[in-house]
Amino acid sequence: MKYDYLIVGAGLFGSTFAYEAAKRGKKVKVIDKRNHIAGNIYTEKVEGINVHKYGAHIFHTNDKEIWEYVNQFAEFNRYTNSPIANYNGEVYNLPFNMNTFNKLWGVTTPEEAKAKIEEQKASVNIDQPKNLEEQAISLIGTDIYIKLIKGYTEKQWGRKATELPNFIIKRLPVRFTYDNNYFNDKYQGIPTGGYTQIVEKMLESELIDVELGKDFFESKEEYLASFPKIVYTGMIDQFFNYQFGTLEYRSLQFENSTLDQENYQGNAVVNYTDAETPYTRIIEHKHFEFGNQPKTVITKEYPRNWKKGDEPYYPMNDKRNNEMFKKYYDLAAENPNIIFGGRLGMYKYYDMHQVIGAALSVVKQEFK
Ligand code: FAD
Ligand code: UDP
Repeated sequence: MKYDYLIVGAGLFGSTFAYEAAKRGKKVKVIDKRNHIAGNIYTEKVEGINVHKYGAHIFHTNDKEIWEYVNQFAEFNRYTNSPIANYNGEVYNLPFNMNTFNKLWGVTTPEEAKAKIEEQKASVNIDQPKNLEEQAISLIGTDIYIKLIKGYTEKQWGRKATELPNFIIKRLPVRFTYDNNYFNDKYQGIPTGGYTQIVEKMLESELIDVELGKDFFESKEEYLASFPKIVYTGMIDQFFNYQFGTLEYRSLQFENSTLDQENYQGNAVVNYTDAETPYTRIIEHKHFEFGNQPKTVITKEYPRNWKKGDEPYYPMNDKRNNEMFKKYYDLAAENPNIIFGGRLGMYKYYDMHQVIGAALSVVKQEFK
């Protein structure tokens, strides 16, 4: 037997596992159906700018161990995510904070802002929020819901906000300070030189072989027969031939342009929160690394319905899909030689730090 593990997917989960396994002397084969490593954190240089090919990626965590772990593979800069929202030409700071409240209502103190939100909440009378719309209004009131949340959210998810789970909006902080930092976490930054180098370093061991452009399902039976253990980071429902039904995802289309100007929008991330603009955000990649190249690269991000064969960027973690996932998860537990992990294998809206954390717990379990 040549390899100890087959790893399906050279994204962050698969690569963290591969790195840790090789560190323990295990021989690993990694396959990915794409023609590059790093999964959705892949970055590529264009005009000297590191372009985040699958959407803006900002690393953030509260966990010192995970921060130190990822810092082994790259140096991180001091980038702090402070996106702005453009609602029909009106610009607001995100996340929802005193700068947003001041611009919207002219209030200057936290007390005035809280009073305004309370007044708006009282006018709709929500007791226990049952969906994203009710959750948003009870957190932040109707004005912000209408201008900054409803249009963006319904474009992003392709559903009415009344038909979406609450947890999605709880990702965003609401703050009564003049602080435009999108995250509350202690550690945050962008790897100087892009994300791909992190995965390159994770996979550089001589004990790791990488094969790109290789889809697991082309040779599933052969792989199952010839590898003692498999770490699988693709879609869990596909692995089981969709026997309990097809899990739903949301997809995206990225439209990149290189512009012959130095600075297009003055910020890395600008969200378009009205319902009519067909994209949700424009990313200007150079600002992640404070670049001063003569040109700039921007990406418009268009949300798309997902069907089999499209890229599954976001799991749709509503009740129906979570219940279906649970059936696949229980089935997966019956075969300990196949480890499911990552955003697609666990059908979870994981950020990068959570993916590393999850991979390290699997490693701990596997090599105890
Ligand atoms: P992936 O990166 O998806 O890797 C899975 C790999 O498996 C892929 O390369 C895929 O090609 C391969 N694969 C799948 N099926 C097969 C198959 N059958 N055969 C062979 N290979 C297969 N996180 C943050 O922390 N901060 C952010 O700012 C942030 N922004 C994001 C923005 C967008 C638009 C998106 C979509 C995600 C964002 N994330 C962010 C989340 C982050 O991308 C994920 O947490 C992380 O990349 C997941 O790693 P993974 O290994 O689980 O999955
Ligand atoms: N959201 C919003 N307006 C914004 C930004 C975000 O309503 O300007 C909502 C939207 O529903 C989105 C969710 O908050 O899906 C989470 O936003 P986040 O920026 O964390 O999304 P991601 O970067 O994962 O796409």
